[in-house]
Amino acid sequence: MIDANTPPTIGIMGAGQLGMMLAQAGHKLGMTFRFLDPATEIAARGLGEHVCAAYEDIDALEEFSRGLKAITYEFENVPLESVRWLAQRVPLHPQPEALKEAQDRLFEKTFFHGVGIPVPKFSSFFFRDEYDEAIGRIGLPAVLKTRRFGYDGKGQRVIRTAAEANTAFRELNGMPLFLEGFVPFDRELSIIAVRSLEGECRFYPLVENHHREGILRLSIAPAPNLTEQLQKEAEGHARRVMDKLNYVGVLAIEFFIRDGMLFANEMAPRVHNSGHWTIEGAETSQFENHLRAVTGMPLGSTAAKGHSAMVNIIGEFPDLAAVRTMPGVAVHDYGKKPRAGRKLGHVTLTASTMQEVERLRLLLPGA
Ligand code: AMP
Repeated sequence: MIDANTPPTIGIMGAGQLGMMLAQAGHKLGMTFRFLDPATEIAARGLGEHVCAAYEDIDALEEFSRGLKAITYEFENVPLESVRWLAQRVPLHPQPEALKEAQDRLFEKTFFHGVGIPVPKFSSFFFRDEYDEAIGRIGLPAVLKTRRFGYDGKGQRVIRTAAEANTAFRELNGMPLFLEGFVPFDRELSIIAVRSLEGECRFYPLVENHHREGILRLSIAPAPNLTEQLQKEAEGHARRVMDKLNYVGVLAIEFFIRDGMLFANEMAPRVHNSGHWTIEGAETSQFENHLRAVTGMPLGSTAAKGHSAMVNIIGEFPDLAAVRTMPGVAVHDYGKKPRAGRKLGHVTLTASTMQEVERLRLLLPGA
């Protein structure tokens, strides 16, 4: 029997590092967790029950959903049909409609445009002659992307010449494609926002992100030279997205900034890598605030405590023992086996000034 003293169990679709950090935050709020993930080796091992089955397996969905207070997901490529099935049985956030918009780059860009957020020029197509027309309209350089299942720079090619356009089309052909104008951005920024069940919105300060080979390497929080006006502009964009979708939970939007103007690149209806710094660097982490939102609790403060830098550990581990001896450092190890391009963990550095964070960052092995 469930009574007021029984800890609420939250279901998470996906048991990778985001699920792991959600559960770590949730345990402090007295929550317990159940994960659904087809992988046998999971980063969230030991942090809750694990239903090890395909996301489409109806029996597994039934078993997973039994007795849960709320369900959420840690990545956007979970099948929409399964999410809709679960949402009919258990309160599920962010709602399937948000997932639908975020799963497909065409829907996403069309949605941003529809709520008045500037985006790069874009065009979708199926056939070769339509591709040529799209290049004619958008011009080169451009970025050819798959509409779905792109992440960490996968499923996209920058094209600068007609020859590169041919090669890229051959390589990505077979999937619905999408062409986007190349934005020679000054920098990349993201905002992590959260909206409660009652519709209250809170925002973390904009973060500056550095990618290499399409993978996030470094986030600096708050973004250097952040003006109040830029922060307000990004908050306005995030608020419009969330209000339109009647969104509940954490939302991340990645922007390019060029000549002071923000262009939305993509959104993630979930906790996000560029918000990991909030564990040590903000009053309330993105993980705690996401759980607060999806379970109907009041939101916590999103204020930064000082300055932070989050450095992803990708492909291979640095000397973690040496890293741990540094002041103001927190090491998060996802317990994964090293593999090229794989996110194995992250390091967050916090200090009272950006200069000190930068000094520490340059001392990191491999910096
Ligand atoms: P995405 O998977 O769309 O987030 O892209 C990964 C990274 O590729 C981005 O963070 C950018 O660094 C780069 N990128 C993607 N789209 C564009 C674009 N339209 N113009 C310039 N760079 C891009």
